[in-house]
Amino acid sequence: MPTLNIRYTEINQRINDACKHYERNPDNICLLAVSKGQHYSAIKQLYALGQRQFGESYLNETLEKQSQLAKLNIEWHYIGRIQSNKTADIAQHFAWVHSVDRLKIANRLNDQRDNDAPALNICLQVNINQENSKGGVNESDAVALAKEITQLPNLRLRGLMALPQRESDISKQREHFACLRHLRDEINAHGLQLDTLSMGMSNDFTAAIAEHSTHLRIGSALFGPRQT
Ligand SMILES: *Cc1c(COP(=O)(O)O)cnc(C)c1O
Repeated sequence: MPTLNIRYTEINQRINDACKHYERNPDNICLLAVSKGQHYSAIKQLYALGQRQFGESYLNETLEKQSQLAKLNIEWHYIGRIQSNKTADIAQHFAWVHSVDRLKIANRLNDQRDNDAPALNICLQVNINQENSKGGVNESDAVALAKEITQLPNLRLRGLMALPQRESDISKQREHFACLRHLRDEINAHGLQLDTLSMGMSNDFTAAIAEHSTHLRIGSALFGPRQT
């Protein structure tokens, strides 16, 4: 599948171009390859090209891939919806969870993370367009939830994640991402030290770079259409 190599080079080039244009340091931007719905062989192929961070949304699918890829030094990021009965596996099999939106889930992840493991990196998913279907804490509740999560010893609150409504216009895309950035600044004004903005997908990552994203979650632009 040579097209994967070509797409990977192209995406990295587009990220670098956007960094130049918006005066961002590319070292401060992490590309998460969103491999949900893709065969594990595609992950292997990207790994061979140097990619180490992969994002997944479905637990059972990820556990299968992880058993196939156990020898690889992959950093796994969970970006999907979290059901309470799945938190034990999520706490044990990922380095990052981007989609925490309530205290109950944070408490369970904290209790179920191995005390000897490094703290689980957490992003709060924020519902920036009041689009309830996608989940996420409301902006008005985010400061309080962030403060509670920083009390949990096995979790390390790193920042905010959003999945804004689709827009084709880049200035509209930027407005949504700017909301998330301002919320991060507001939370930090309360004494927290969030260093992460997980925002930007295949169709809007340039706008996310412009608004200081640190983690781009890119799936279809990299892998092509999902297999499942
Ligand atoms: C699927 C998914 C992505 C990647 O979406 P693409 O449009 O394929 O780049 C990013 N973030 C989340 C939370 C997702 O579920």
